[in-house]
Amino acid sequence: PIYLDHQATSELAPGVLDAMIPFFSDVYANPHSSEHAQGWRVSDAVERSRTQIAAAVGADSDEVIFTSGATEANNMVILGYERDEAPTLITTAIEHKSVIAPIRERARRGSRTTVLSVDGRGYIDLSALELALSSGAALVSVMAVNNEIGSAQQIAVIAELCHGAGALLHVDAAQALPFAAIDASFADFISLSAHKAGGPKGVGALIVARHARGKLSPIIFGGGQEDGLRPGTLPAPLCVGFGAACATLPDRDEVADWRNRADRLADLLRAEVTGLIRNGGGEGAHPGNVSVTLPAGDADVVIARLQPVLAVSTGSACTTGIPEASHVLRAIGLDVAAADRTIRFSVGRFTTLADIERAARLFGAAARRNT
Ligand code: PMP
Repeated sequence: PIYLDHQATSELAPGVLDAMIPFFSDVYANPHSSEHAQGWRVSDAVERSRTQIAAAVGADSDEVIFTSGATEANNMVILGYERDEAPTLITTAIEHKSVIAPIRERARRGSRTTVLSVDGRGYIDLSALELALSSGAALVSVMAVNNEIGSAQQIAVIAELCHGAGALLHVDAAQALPFAAIDASFADFISLSAHKAGGPKGVGALIVARHARGKLSPIIFGGGQEDGLRPGTLPAPLCVGFGAACATLPDRDEVADWRNRADRLADLLRAEVTGLIRNGGGEGAHPGNVSVTLPAGDADVVIARLQPVLAVSTGSACTTGIPEASHVLRAIGLDVAAADRTIRFSVGRFTTLADIERAARLFGAAARRNT
């Protein structure tokens, strides 16, 4: 079988599993057990991984708060920011559900919210952001890289506009971490997920810039771990795996090669299916994203025909099963019918050209079949 759904989740990067294994078996003490040496050993490993994560995004290690993933990190920022007030919130039309849903919850609790629209490639209009910011201080939540169409917002420019207007910026960088495209110095809060970037599922982080710490209150309560923001025993093996993944992120050349393989897939798909349209992309986009709209037919039917040989998806795995056109595809101007004809291929860092060529042939045959 061929797996081209790496934006849903990916395999562990080389060395990550080996780094984790001892912490599942021999070295199993609680990292918060500060009285004995076995606890110290686990705590040291967790702190080393915290440093590796910080280094990957240009933050300081005391700004890294471990979470169960980007969903939790997004909820912590959006629900915990000025928790007892009703802050003004600004976001975009193409955010992940784990941003959209807590923002709706804040609106229900009295926050004024603005949702910025995007253009046909998935980019916000900076002057619309400026206008939204002009009505007072706010928390702005903008994803770095979109999970369905790969588009990458201009975070440095957005940060400058936000800070100029006295607003703070939260960046959901779950899809940016795998190609090392994050510079923490721009954002006040950053959400990360290990499993999109060669780490294990079930762990992530919220980076909280030191100067923004006072704005954030916890949304769950317990033993006070993670600076009181995220209590609970840390999953030491997962933390170690996350750190190891961050230490082996691809360099520029590898990302360029990854992008070339995805572009090759797009070319082959276009050659197989006349009239195929590629969505999203643009400067700094996700190197593995190939979102395509078929000229006719139905994406679900084509994907079903490809089982069990080829894993691709209609977009966000988190919404799969809900019979509703993707809000991201609708936001870039696709009508419901075109959204239903859209398939996301996501090439992985380690996907071979041979697999890409075979996948394109299989896909072409499945898309051309009309029964
Ligand atoms: N944000 C984005 C942009 C994502 O792609 C995902 C994963 N689909 C998430 C947040 C949620 O991440 P996690 O699985 O770590 O909760």
